[in-house]
Amino acid sequence: MNLIPLPAFNDNYIWMLRDGQYALVVDPGEAQVVFEAIERLGVQLGAILVTHHHADHTGGVAELREGTGAQVFGPLHETMPEPLTRLTGGDAIDLLGLRLQVIDVPGHTSGHIAFYAEPVGEAPLLFCGDTLFSAGSGRLFEGTPAQMLTSLGKLAALPDNTRVCCAHEYTASGLVFAHAVEPDNQALISYQVRVKALREQQLPTLPSSIGLEKAVNPFLRTHLGSVIRAVQQFDACAQDPISVFAALRTWKNQF
Ligand code: ZN
Ligand code: FE
Repeated sequence: MNLIPLPAFNDNYIWMLRDGQYALVVDPGEAQVVFEAIERLGVQLGAILVTHHHADHTGGVAELREGTGAQVFGPLHETMPEPLTRLTGGDAIDLLGLRLQVIDVPGHTSGHIAFYAEPVGEAPLLFCGDTLFSAGSGRLFEGTPAQMLTSLGKLAALPDNTRVCCAHEYTASGLVFAHAVEPDNQALISYQVRVKALREQQLPTLPSSIGLEKAVNPFLRTHLGSVIRAVQQFDACAQDPISVFAALRTWKNQF
């Protein structure tokens, strides 16, 4: 099983998962880079998975479906280009010999879903769209802080070695904010060094892992004293878990 990030637009990744002759892609915001990869690798596109309705995740869906005949799977509760098979939390689909489980992760959008799989003999895989970024989280365009906190909690509960396939290369800028929140976090400081080296070589910082994100990502660390105290410097009214998370998100938006 090969996991291949296809860069698109400024900072998107369209994730391709390939098993021999067959491949699937997640969130193809544009078709051209996927057509090129299919050609280059000599694979057949069997499926297109979509996490949420934003154009930078769906823009290439119709053209790819028409050009390849691939079946499209997307969220039940979002406006999506038809035809597609609609999925919601608890559903599972079998593709490339793999069982992909659907997790509801509302927050960035109200019907956002994620896909999780445990390939035999490999670390688990998570395609989380714009819910979780490395060292960051998606903006709350449609959902509430409480929803997002619950969604991120579901992802944090996955095995530590889960490969986290985020839809954007936001790691370096996320780390600048994360460092402002937790200047003494040693794991974060060493990750920052690694990320800088990768970006200097124009290499992806992804996939991340759940274990790493739990160590460095302030949005997965809002239950910890270090993060709570920092957030309260920004907003003294932030006391309970939801208001701490909400204030952290507001702080990041203004950062
Ligand atoms: Zn989005
Ligand atoms: Fe996006």
